[in-house]
Amino acid sequence: MTHAPHPDTLERWATGERILPLPVRTGAPPPAISFEFFPPKTAALEAQLWACVDRLATLRPRFVSVTYGAGGSTQERTHATVMRLAQETDLVPAAHLTCVGATRDEVDEVARRYWEAGVKHIVALRGDPPKGETYAPYPGGYDFAADLVAGLKRVADFEITVAAYPEIHPQALSAAADLDNLKRKLDAGATRAITQMFFDNDNFLRFLDRALAAGIKAPIVPGIMPVSNFTQAAKFCAGCGTHVPAWMADLFEGLDDDVETRRMVAAATTAEQVRILQANGIDEFHFITLNRPDLVYAIARILGVKPAGLAVAA
Ligand SMILES: Cc1cc2nc3c(=O)[nH]c(=O)nc-3n(C[C@H](O)[C@H](O)[C@H](O)COP(=O)(O)OP(=O)(O)OC[C@H]3O[C@@H](n4cnc5c(N)ncnc54)[C@H](O)[C@@H]3O)c2cc1C
Repeated sequence: MTHAPHPDTLERWATGERILPLPVRTGAPPPAISFEFFPPKTAALEAQLWACVDRLATLRPRFVSVTYGAGGSTQERTHATVMRLAQETDLVPAAHLTCVGATRDEVDEVARRYWEAGVKHIVALRGDPPKGETYAPYPGGYDFAADLVAGLKRVADFEITVAAYPEIHPQALSAAADLDNLKRKLDAGATRAITQMFFDNDNFLRFLDRALAAGIKAPIVPGIMPVSNFTQAAKFCAGCGTHVPAWMADLFEGLDDDVETRRMVAAATTAEQVRILQANGIDEFHFITLNRPDLVYAIARILGVKPAGLAVAA
């Protein structure tokens, strides 16, 4: 039942519904975190990436992944970045690999090179076609991510992560078909899924319920993107089926030219999102960094993750 607001301010405050604080993490270990980077195109972006890696490495992520550009456009750069992570850092690199634009033999050969170089974790994806085109399996290639997972397992015993869609993949025939597809990818040998980014925690938590009811046991790790460039993110979300809540558009309204405020709003909204997920028992997070460390570093700290050398609260 809703009451008409009392004209008197204190009475209005004192008689309203009480919201309890989010539970404080006590005794639990900090969550496992991983970071996603993209392969840089220019010398300046290259410097930015490695500065980002240096800063986030102090948080001891479980692994760090490197994306593969749409249409396979970054094959060489992805490979070079993954190799440098493997050779020059203590981090565990995971290479994104897609089915797009390559035969099975070519994909298998890339995978074999990774395995021989000590890169044993692949994020296996169907991939998206170049902008403006619709997806069609490449002649002689892997058709879908589940086929790629099975193919990779034939090459070597990779650790394999796949993609999951709490808000349903845009080309899925139905929510049930999409969940079946996730199950096929896990049955083919993947051991974890990372979700498409989302902002509506309810959608994610309901998706976990549906996955569990469908017999899925592997962790479905939330893909978290701290959004400070709202206009750009909203465009991306429209293409990948991520719902942008009205409250979010409202928060960023009129801030296009105010970078500093946008960053503070991003920190606050992402902190709230991950704290609520953590309060719901989620203890693994994957962060899309866009090769910028500051927001992600702060959010990880808020989740209780500390750099090596700093004590973790008991
Ligand atoms: C965590 C994460 C990381 C990503 N990284 C990259 C990246 O580095 N590079 C990149 O290009 N893209 C990346 N993507 C985007 C991804 O490639 C796209 O979302 C792509 O459209 C689907 O990839 P998938 O692996 O989920 O495909 P799939 O699991 O193969 O599913 C694709 C669609 O096909 C349907 N489907 C599956 N099998 C069948 C079948 N047999 N018959 C009919 N329909 C079927 C599914 O339901 C779904 O709708 C990433 C996405 C996520 C969530």
